[in-house]
Amino acid sequence: MSFRAVMLSEKDRQVSSSMVDLEDADLPQGDVLVSVDYSTLNYKDGMVLSGIGRLVRNYPHIPGIDFSGIVEASHDPRFASGDRVVLTGWKVGELHWGGFAEKARVNADWLVKLPENLSNLDAMAIGTAGLTSMLAMQALEEHGIQQGPVLVTGAAGGVGSVAIHLLARAGYEVAASTGRPETEQYLRSLGATSIIQRSELAEQPTGPLASERWGGCIDAVGDVTLAHVLTEMQYGSSIAACGLAGGNALNTTVIPFLLRAVNLLGIDSVVAPFDSRVRAWARLDELLDRDTLKTMTTVVSLLDASKMGSQIIQGQVQGRVVVDVKA
Ligand code: NDP
Repeated sequence: MSFRAVMLSEKDRQVSSSMVDLEDADLPQGDVLVSVDYSTLNYKDGMVLSGIGRLVRNYPHIPGIDFSGIVEASHDPRFASGDRVVLTGWKVGELHWGGFAEKARVNADWLVKLPENLSNLDAMAIGTAGLTSMLAMQALEEHGIQQGPVLVTGAAGGVGSVAIHLLARAGYEVAASTGRPETEQYLRSLGATSIIQRSELAEQPTGPLASERWGGCIDAVGDVTLAHVLTEMQYGSSIAACGLAGGNALNTTVIPFLLRAVNLLGIDSVVAPFDSRVRAWARLDELLDRDTLKTMTTVVSLLDASKMGSQIIQGQVQGRVVVDVKA
């Protein structure tokens, strides 16, 4: 039986996509064959779909850095036909064919069995962005969240939206920084208690330290924003740096680290250890309000998702975009 997939090809450094029909035998090698239900559109998928950053080395290629689905066949004793599974990271959708297809064949080590209460749709409404938000919140907690609001930058995006909701549900006061004032109501509905205009943090700081404002920070933006926030952190607080939507530069000084004992914690969901993934999925299941999750999620078809790559790169997407692969 053939199945549908979005296939990327490259000519003269221009990437284009088309819908193709494949057979199981066309898929790459792996221990587990998964019937994919949902994938999502992430910032990195936007880069892959637009050919930015040369994340893909070999074409033709199937994008989609995460997916949820049901095991169809397994050569690994940890998985049996019918198991519900989720995959995020491991360079799937970059070096390995990903989730923008009705089937995927992957290495068993990359899969996590879904908690019973988490549907396949919920799992992808959370997706890579949500897992990253949870890993970031856990990293902040491990290092101690200080007094004052926890700042979330890139607030209306995928990582930001889930991070706000998780922090609020865990009982923290949350400040949301956005460049889109029209999203204020949305951000407050997720649990933000104050809204900070992106422009307020978007200027290179004038000195190495400013008044202490933030008890912690989840930063999806990087660049000047991160340099600015570093000067405003409370003594002993931490920033979980997980993104670079504003750029990958960082022009700062060592002073916030020396005089305010600030921790800069790198978050990488791609190769996060298996145990921390399982813990993160269990806590996501426990903390996330499913109705709120729905309000931050847009569901689109495979075809529409592949057209939306440039929108997410331009910061025009709100919340999470789930791809209903079989729609
Ligand atoms: P989205 O595009 O959904 O969100 C990014 C948000 O950043 C936008 O919504 C916008 O928020 C803000 N933004 C966009 N452009 C700029 C800019 N030029 N200057 C300042 N702010 C900007 O992406 P995701 O949330 O999916 O991902 C965010 C970042 O996190 C990306 O860099 C992504 O690669 C990274 N990431 C990292 C992971 C990891 O494991 N470390 C995993 C997943 C993502 P607003 O409109 O509110 O201002």
